[in-house]
Amino acid sequence: MTDEPIVVIHGSPWAWADLRDAVFECRRQQWVSEAWAPSPALVLRTGGEVIQYTGQAFDPARYELRPTGWTHDHCQVCWWELGPSEDPDHQYGYSSQLGWLCRECYVRFIEPEEPRHKNTEPANERGKAEET
Ligand SMILES: [Zn+2]
Repeated sequence: MTDEPIVVIHGSPWAWADLRDAVFECRRQQWVSEAWAPSPALVLRTGGEVIQYTGQAFDPARYELRPTGWTHDHCQVCWWELGPSEDPDHQYGYSSQLGWLCRECYVRFIEPEEPRHKNTEPANERGKAEET
C-alpha cells in the first residue's frame, strides 16, 4: 500500500499504520497530565544497560540502584523524548501504567472529548439523564 494515511507529529511525518496499534493500546489506559520527573533505575555496573526500577528483585553485585537514574522517557506513540527541559513540550506529558505520552499525541489521539472519527452510534435517548 503506497497511499497509507500520513500524520504529522512534532513536524515529522508518520504512517498511521505504524502508529495505529500503539494508539489503540493507549486508548485503553487512564492518562494523567503531569510534569516529567526522574525515577529510580538499575544501572549495570559494567555499563551499557539501564532498567527502570519498579521494585523488582535485582543482583546488587551487577546493578547499582540510582534514585534518579531514569533520566527520560519516550512517547509511546511517536517516541518524542520527555525529560527535564525548559521546553514544556518535553517537560510535560501524560503518564499511565503503560508509560508516557507527549501532549501532542494525547490531544490528537487519546483525549476522549475529541473523537477522531465521527461516531456512528446513535447519540439519542441515552444522554437524557445528564440533563439538568
Ligand atoms: Zn507523541
